[in-house]
Amino acid sequence: MEQRRFKDIVAFKWNQGAPLAFHARNLEIAEISEDTWNQMSQESLGADDAAVALKNWELENSPDVKSGRLSVGIRSLTINVTQICNLKCTYCAAGGDGTYGSAQTKINVEKTLPQLKFFLERVPTGGRFNITFLGGEPLLYPDGIQEIGNYVRLMTAGQNVQASFSIVTNGTLINEKTLKVLTSLKTNITVSLDGPAETNDKARPSKDGRGSTSLVVEGLKQLSAVRESLGRLTLHGVFNRENLELVKAYEFYKTLNADRYEFTYSVEENDDASNKLFVDQMNQIADMAYKAGGEEELRKVGIFDQYFNALDNQQQTENFCGSGKSFLVMDAKNNLFTCPWEVGNKEEQVGQGTDVDFARMEAEQAPLIEKNNCQSCWARFLCGGGCMFIHKKGTGSKHQKDGQFCFRTRSLIGTTFMYYKLSRATC
Ligand code: SF4
Ligand code: SF4
Repeated sequence: MEQRRFKDIVAFKWNQGAPLAFHARNLEIAEISEDTWNQMSQESLGADDAAVALKNWELENSPDVKSGRLSVGIRSLTINVTQICNLKCTYCAAGGDGTYGSAQTKINVEKTLPQLKFFLERVPTGGRFNITFLGGEPLLYPDGIQEIGNYVRLMTAGQNVQASFSIVTNGTLINEKTLKVLTSLKTNITVSLDGPAETNDKARPSKDGRGSTSLVVEGLKQLSAVRESLGRLTLHGVFNRENLELVKAYEFYKTLNADRYEFTYSVEENDDASNKLFVDQMNQIADMAYKAGGEEELRKVGIFDQYFNALDNQQQTENFCGSGKSFLVMDAKNNLFTCPWEVGNKEEQVGQGTDVDFARMEAEQAPLIEKNNCQSCWARFLCGGGCMFIHKKGTGSKHQKDGQFCFRTRSLIGTTFMYYKLSRATC
C-alpha cells in the first residue's frame, strides 16, 4: 500500500482499484482520480481542476461531524471484585498472580455500595452507567458480583438511568452458580483466550502448571447454552513475540460461537518485527473475514467494527479512553485509580471511597489528542491519542507517544478504509 498526504487529506493506493482519500477532520472517504493522486506527490498542488477540488475538499468542515470531547463525569467503573486468581498467566498485569501485591483478596461489598450510590447519584437523567467486573479472576467471588449488580439495579430502577454490566474473565469458572449471576445481570462477557490449546496453555496455565484451554472451551459451551440471557460474548487474546499466531487464534475463535473477537498486542512487547507481524496477521484476518462473510464477518473483529462505526456516524474520538474523565477503576480496598493497569500506583490514584479528587480530574480534562500532541496525525480523530499506559511503557511518559502503537493504529485504520469502501460500494 502506498500513501500520500495533502494537509488533512491522506490518500492510499493498493494493488487494485482507484486511490482512496480520507478527510481526517470530517471522517469522510472518497475515491480520487489518478490525476489527483499524482498531484499529491508534488511539493505543492497544481492549479488544474483536480487540484482545486482537493484543496476545496480539504478546507471543508462538515456540519455533520460530531465532536469526541469528554467532560468529567464518571459513567463507567471497573471494579476489582477480587484480587486473586486461579491461573498464572505469563503476562499477568495484576502483580503476576492477580493480587497487585495486596493482601486483600476480595472487595468488601458493604464499603462498596455507598461508593456506587455516590457515583450513580451523579449520572444525569437519561444517562448510562456501566460496571465492569475485573480481578484477579472476578468469578472467584460471584456473590459479590450479584450483590453489587442487584444494588445497581435497585438504585437505577425508575431513575431513567440505563445500567449495564460487563465482566472480563478467564472463563474457567463457569458453573451453575456463576451462570445464574451472569444471566441475572445480562452481562457482557469477555473471555480471555490466546488461541488454541497449543498456545493458550503455555500463556495461561493454572497455578499447578496445567493448561486451562479445555476448561475455557467447556465454559464457553455452557455460556452458549444461555446466550439469549447474556449480553455480548467476546473472545480476547493477547499476543507477543512468544505467540504471534493471530490467524490460528482467529480460526479457533470461529469454532466457539462468539459475537466478537479482540486481538491485543501485549503492552510488554517492544519488538519492531513482532509489531509488523501483528499488523500483517490482522490484515490476513481482515481478508479472511471479508471473503467469508463481507462486512458482517469483518465487523466481528472489534477494532474494525469500532472504525466502521466512527466512519458511519462521523463520530470523532478525541480520547482513546475515558481514563480519569468518564471512567475509573476501584481496587479491592475501594481505592480509585484512572486505569486498570495503574492499580496500586499512588500517582494515578484519584480517590478512596467517596472522597474523589474531581478538581484533579478537571485539570486533566483536555482531550488526549491535545495532551499527547497528536494534532498533525491524520488518524487522530479515529485513534484519540492512544493508550496512555502503552505510551508510558514504550517511552516512559503517558503523554509521549509510542511509535509502535502509532504504526499499528494507522496501519489498521488504513486497512479499514479499504474494506469500508468495498462494503459501501456493494450496498
Ligand atoms: S496514531 Fe499516534 S499520533 Fe496518531 S492519534 Fe494515535 S497516538 Fe496520536
Ligand atoms: S490508558 Fe490504556 S489501559 Fe488505561 S484505561 Fe486507557 S486504554 Fe485502558
